[in-house]
Amino acid sequence: LLTFSFLSICFGTYAQSKKAAITIDEKVERLLGQMTLEEKVGQLNQYTGDRLATGPVTENSTKYKDIKEGKVGSMLNVRGAKDTRMVQEIAMQSRLKIPLLFGLDVIHGYRVTFPIPLAEAASWDLKAIETSARVAAIESAAAGQHWTFAPMVDISRDPRWGRVMEGAGEDTYLGSLIAKARVKGFQGNKLGDLDAIMACVKHFAAYGAAIGGRDYNSVDMSDRALWETYLPPFKAAVDAGAATFMNSFNDLNGIPATGNSYLQRDILKGKWGFKGFVVSDWGSIREMIAHGFAKNNAEAAQYAINAGSDMDMEGRVYLSSLAKLVQDRKVDIALVDDAVRRILRKKFELGLFDDPYRFSNEARENKVLNSADNRSKSRDMAKRSIVLLKNDKQLLPLSKSLKTIAVIGPLAKSEKDMMGFWSVKWDNDHLVSLYEGLQNKLGKNTQLLYAAGCNSVTDSTHSGFAEAVEVAKKADVVIMAVGEAFDMSGEAKSRANIHIPGAQEELVQAVKQAGKPVVVLTMSGRPMIFNWVADNADAILHSWWLGSEAGNAMADVLFGDYNPAGKLPMTFPRSEGQIPVYYNYKSTGRPSPTDLAGVYRSGYIDMVNSPRYAFGYGLSYTKFSLTDLKLDKSKVISTDSISVTCLLKNEGKYAGEEVVQLYLQDVFASVTRPVKELKSFEKVYLKPGESKTVKFVVNKEMLSFYDQKMNWTAEPGEFKLMIGNSSDHIMLQSKFELETN
Ligand code: BGC
Repeated sequence: LLTFSFLSICFGTYAQSKKAAITIDEKVERLLGQMTLEEKVGQLNQYTGDRLATGPVTENSTKYKDIKEGKVGSMLNVRGAKDTRMVQEIAMQSRLKIPLLFGLDVIHGYRVTFPIPLAEAASWDLKAIETSARVAAIESAAAGQHWTFAPMVDISRDPRWGRVMEGAGEDTYLGSLIAKARVKGFQGNKLGDLDAIMACVKHFAAYGAAIGGRDYNSVDMSDRALWETYLPPFKAAVDAGAATFMNSFNDLNGIPATGNSYLQRDILKGKWGFKGFVVSDWGSIREMIAHGFAKNNAEAAQYAINAGSDMDMEGRVYLSSLAKLVQDRKVDIALVDDAVRRILRKKFELGLFDDPYRFSNEARENKVLNSADNRSKSRDMAKRSIVLLKNDKQLLPLSKSLKTIAVIGPLAKSEKDMMGFWSVKWDNDHLVSLYEGLQNKLGKNTQLLYAAGCNSVTDSTHSGFAEAVEVAKKADVVIMAVGEAFDMSGEAKSRANIHIPGAQEELVQAVKQAGKPVVVLTMSGRPMIFNWVADNADAILHSWWLGSEAGNAMADVLFGDYNPAGKLPMTFPRSEGQIPVYYNYKSTGRPSPTDLAGVYRSGYIDMVNSPRYAFGYGLSYTKFSLTDLKLDKSKVISTDSISVTCLLKNEGKYAGEEVVQLYLQDVFASVTRPVKELKSFEKVYLKPGESKTVKFVVNKEMLSFYDQKMNWTAEPGEFKLMIGNSSDHIMLQSKFELETN
């Protein structure tokens, strides 16, 4: 008996001490129980702290007062360890001392800028993409940030839409893998680590399908397109543990995304079981009034909270209306409590209740930011993002012993444009232009000549042409840098005309007449149109906007220190009239013409259907062959998987990487299916003469689609399997059959 009671005492104490370490959910409940209605609403309110919009947090500002009174749950656009600490100190004067969350658009790097996300997607290199997000997280977490408004996982098939620069392109499968890699990169091992920040997956949903590519515009789409093409990257991000979501400005089939219960409650928090919180897009709750959906602020707040929007970014309507809505019994307090719980849970997970300043540490900030290692990772990512579009007579790589090189074009010496949209120019920043990258690469024996040719990318005069031609005449090779300025693609930067702007294409024509080999670097935040250049330049490298180390990365590729391996994540059209243009279209009863002779068919009488450069396209300095396709079975039942192998060989003289792409088609189905869909890929590095067996596994999931009743299913019948190095260059083909179980 004695022993028993002794044991039970010991066990009792042990149980109590176990109990003392209460769970985050219990902590959240305790805190929630102490909060007034106003304090709860405060947690759902997010202000900006930037100097542009509504002003910084100064002592006499409303923001200062509101933070002190517990009416603010989060701030965006407060930058740096010092400022975040200062603003957090105000929150620590509030009654319950609930720490603020600091959020910022860390889209492609914080201090060191990485290539724009669309460029990174061209690497098809998930490890490198994860590393890029990791560096952004490490730097921004050291600068006081808890949360980035990234990744943007909106699929888009419209290059007029300026925000394509921020996403992963047109393909659902590639986009889903990249979404996952970015979430993992930002969030690291776990929230609460000092190098992890919360990801915010945006914009939920279908923002990339705005009519005519006009930013913020309406979206009207079938449930089939929504589920099949636009939602999977969001689902992948939830599965990867994304902490937060952002909704979007557009309406979807008549209902603004922000007030859309189907999206946020039924799908995201319901079917997908998302445990994090949803922040509105900037003012998007209030904007439901402009949509003609809500009559006033109160109605907007009511619709948004009912639909599952947890935090109001700079709309201020939760703050002004939500408490009264609850008091008037128009909004159930349970909905407010649920939103508050979701937000508090993240604050606990981040460790902010243990130390609200743990991320705002100036010593760490000084040590971690802009390190040589971070810059070298940016350069590595930049090289991997470049796509070789053309290389006539193997002009590239150039020899480092060339005597004279002409560098021409309005972007040749540009630094800011290399950074792209969503980037910041820091004081004393060192950004490497193409020209500087070439200087760094080349020895004294090579002379660099320079002419801008155009005063700016939009300059339409030809006044600089003569000088450019003179410079070209003196050189052995001409390198031209043409394209968009950094602010021509991005948010609210949709363009109806996506040709290379200004007189730049004419500049290339003029320079070409000097008779020297011409390499063109095309730079932009979207697929551009440049038919003359595509037909007449000797070599073309699509270089996007590559970030802090842009010039060094371009020089690495131009001179063969890195063999380009990028593949387009988005189709480049020949004309705006072809848009939307994408690789996974459907077959029609009147097939698409491949030339103008096919004018009766499903296309245009004045333009072919094929794009200028297809999804998945990109060359290498070496030549790869693909042979020996083998499938271990030609008939399978749905529980089987098929093992597919093929042999990749480097037949050329440079080492390099190839992206081997596997596409599938369900030949006959109860719902029409695309002519091909990317289902797997492998990026393989081979030395000259080396070969490797590339292995794929095809399983039931890859054969499945939404049937007529919108059930996810694989139907028995014939499937076509295609392997190639681009969606329009299939080198191996086979068939197999799925049999009834
Ligand atoms: C954009 C979001 C961004 C937010 C905060 C909005 O206008 O659509 O993507 O995160 O601003 O800057």
